[in-house]
Parts: sequence; C-alpha cells; structure tokens
Amino acid sequence: MSNPGLVLVLNSGSSSIKYQLVDPEAGTAVVSGLVEQIGEADGPVADHAAGLRLLHQRLTESGVDLVTVRAVGHRVVHGGSRFFVPTLITDAVVAEVERLAELAPLHNPANVIGIEVARADFPNVPHVAVFDTGFFHSLPPAAAHYAINHDVATEYGIRRYGFHGTSHEYVSRETAAVLGREPAELNTIVLHLGNGASASAVRGGKAVETSMGMTPLEGLVMGTRSGDIDPGVLFHLYRTAGLGVEQLDELLNRRSGLKGLSGINDFRELLERRAAGGASGEAAGLAYDVYIHRLRKYVGAYLAVLGRVDAIAFTAGVGENVPDVREDALAGLDGLGIIVDPQRNRSGKGARVISADASRTTVLVVPTNEELAIARAAWEFV
Ligand code: AMP
Repeated sequence: MSNPGLVLVLNSGSSSIKYQLVDPEAGTAVVSGLVEQIGEADGPVADHAAGLRLLHQRLTESGVDLVTVRAVGHRVVHGGSRFFVPTLITDAVVAEVERLAELAPLHNPANVIGIEVARADFPNVPHVAVFDTGFFHSLPPAAAHYAINHDVATEYGIRRYGFHGTSHEYVSRETAAVLGREPAELNTIVLHLGNGASASAVRGGKAVETSMGMTPLEGLVMGTRSGDIDPGVLFHLYRTAGLGVEQLDELLNRRSGLKGLSGINDFRELLERRAAGGASGEAAGLAYDVYIHRLRKYVGAYLAVLGRVDAIAFTAGVGENVPDVREDALAGLDGLGIIVDPQRNRSGKGARVISADASRTTVLVVPTNEELAIARAAWEFV
C-alpha cells in the first residue's frame, strides 16, 4: 500500500482492544477490528501485550506495511481537569492518566495498559491521547458544578466532566459542514444515542452543557445504566436492602437502564420485543417510553439553555438507525419550531436533514466517527 501515512487508533478496555487503521487525509478506515476476551480463560490472548501482538499480526496479514503507521491515537476516557486537548504521550502523561484512575476506575487503568504496550510496540512514532472529557472542558461553571459542599467537591475532584466528547465535537462540526455554516455561527443539540447515551448543548462550537457528569452514569437512559436517579435511592437501598457500594455500582451501571426495565439492553431486540407484544412486549414498551421521555426532557432543557437552537443532530447506533426514536423524541414540538418530516426521517443514508422545510430548527442524522476524529488529532503531531 502506498499511503502518505496511516494512524492506528486504539480504544483499550479492560478485556478488549478496539483498533482501526485510519487514513487521516482520505478520512477512511483501512482496517478495523477487535481483540476480545483478553485474559479470559477461553480468550485468544492472555494479556494486552499479547493482544497487541495479535493485532500486529492481523494488520500484517491484511497487507498493511506497518512502516506506514506514522502515529498512534489513544482514546482515553478521563482527562480530569488536567487534560483536554489531544496530548502527546510521555512518561509524565502516562503517570498522570494513571493517577486520574481515581475518577474513572473502570476505564483509565485499561487505557494506560493499552498505551504502555502500544508504546513498546510502536516506539518510533508519536502516541497521542485524546480525552473523552476534553470537549466539555468549556462547560461554564454553572453547568460544571454540582450543588454540594464546596470543600468536599474541591478535595475530591467532584464536578461534571462529561464524556463522549470526541463524538459530540465531531458531530457538531459535521452538522455545521452539512448545513454549509461555520461551527461558530451555530447552536446545536447533539444526541449521542448508542449503548451509552448522552446529550450536549453546543453554542458556537463550544460545549455549554452535557448530560453525563462526574462519571458516565448521569443523564439519559442507557443500555444498562440508569442515567439520572435520585441519590436518595442509594441511601434507601443501603439502609433497607443492605446493598454495599459494589452492589450499588453494579446495579446502576450494569443492571439498570433498558436492561433493568425490560431485560434487554440491545435496542434492536427491544424494538422487536415491543412489536411482538405480550407481557415481555409490555416491559419493552415501558422501557422505550421511559427512554423517550428522558430524551425529550433533555431536549427541552437544552432548548432553554441555548435559547436559540439551529440544529438537533442524532448520532450513534440508535440515533442513526432508529427513525421511531427520532420521531417520538421530537413529536409535537411544532410550537417550538421543530418539525420532523416523516418521509425524510425514514429514508436516506449518511449525514442528512430529516426536518420539514418549515422547521425553524434543522433536525439531522449525522453519523459519528470517533476513530477518524482521534486519527486526525494524532495526525497533527506527525
Ligand atoms: P453504539 O454504542 O453506537 O454502537 O450503539 C449500539 C446500540 O445501537 C445497540 O443498542 C444497538 O442495538 C443499536 N442499533 C444499532 N443498529 C441498529 C439498528 N439498525 N436498529 C436498531 N438499533 C440499532
């Protein structure tokens, strides 16, 4: 292959490494894949280092000359208050990301392992960390603070950081591009609806509000996460059910959301089950209704936060593929200048407008591409 250069994008989780080899100039993925079940008994590899060797081997087998890999971009979940722009990785940066594991115990340690094995494997190219929290560094103080004791918040780094930032930034920019406008001219609501889900309000290219908070648990109803919940529920379960911190964590992160309500976290299955009817169809229907209701509340809140909204963009697995969700979330908002066109909403592919011509706010579907955004950020360092 004759490329001016490729960027390897890595998203290293505790038991998996997602990878994509991206041509940042063409904006295309050359190879993508996943090494899964790392360290599990019947998994293909014992640890992340072996996982990276397997990845290396797969890339070579697919005909890629690894000399063309000119940079490695790493998705890092939590940048704390310290990191927000894409950052060239040094030993000091790794140490700091490791320290931030306090704020993201499930994610940052896995990110660090991925970074360390990849640096050993690709020692002669820049490695760049792109932070999921980065785009939300611009949240104004009124949006970033929880109303809790100031000293406690300061001592323990408790504030709203926001996540999925790479996606919200990419989609808000793409939205401007689709509309032929500059990001600086637009107020946009981005609805990232995937397994995890989050909303953001973007004013003139800068994030001013987002639904995820100190952790990715706050906000919208997700596949397995509750989103917003009265913290009093936790005290109640602690006192009356005797649940400990690990069990509460597991309950809200893994056994709640769509799955908690209906037993199903995959949206496609949820829709099938709902259509099939019966008792489990009813549970699926309730899960769907709670999901939509929460989403509408956030749209309404962000209309008020922004005052003027030029665009609402749906993205990620559910946002891009489920017309019912787009229609139901925005139904009956004609009075607020939001009219989804039923035909447009159910046809077309890729980035597109789905609102009626008479809609004051343009509604769009804009596919996200976090890997490309990370690759482009890393490419800046080449
Ligand atoms: P993501 O995290 O962005 O990969 O999104 C994953 C979610 O999107 C899962 O709940 C999938 O079931 C859902 N999804 C992806 N494609 C479709 C589709 N064509 N129809 C319904 N749901 C989908």
